[in-house]
Amino acid sequence: MAETFPRDYHNQGGGGVRCFALRLKPGEEIVSSLRRFVESMKLKAAFVMTCVGSVKKASLRMAHATATQTNEVIHLNDCHEIVSLVGTLNDGGHLHVALSDCEGKVVGGHVLGDMIVFTTAELVIGECESLRFTREFDEQTGFKELTITKDDDGS
Ligand SMILES: [Zn+2]
Repeated sequence: MAETFPRDYHNQGGGGVRCFALRLKPGEEIVSSLRRFVESMKLKAAFVMTCVGSVKKASLRMAHATATQTNEVIHLNDCHEIVSLVGTLNDGGHLHVALSDCEGKVVGGHVLGDMIVFTTAELVIGECESLRFTREFDEQTGFKELTITKDDDGS
């Protein structure tokens, strides 16, 4: 039977989005900086709206990794433009990135971290005001996956 939407509360909309902007400087690590930002601003359902800049390092997990075979990892140790960075930020977060090299060739994948800013990282971060993002283990995938709940306390 086809599932109907909205599924419970989380596709009903109605909640606003708050926007925050952040510029990271040379040498700062993007993922840990975003985690600190979310924690210090007490954001409950945060996501990356946009990001441009450049990195001089990055560690990415490739698409065919599974929970039991996570060894498909690449470590980039040269400068790349950040073409795109997207994902959610709470409870460890889940980010994917597209990076282009000096010839414009693009590589992308699941961000493991170690994304050191080369020149700058200009980030706009959003927060869904009526929601709360956490991550819970999903037996189907073997990973902690996004869990969306209504933010009951409204703070
Ligand atoms: Zn991923």
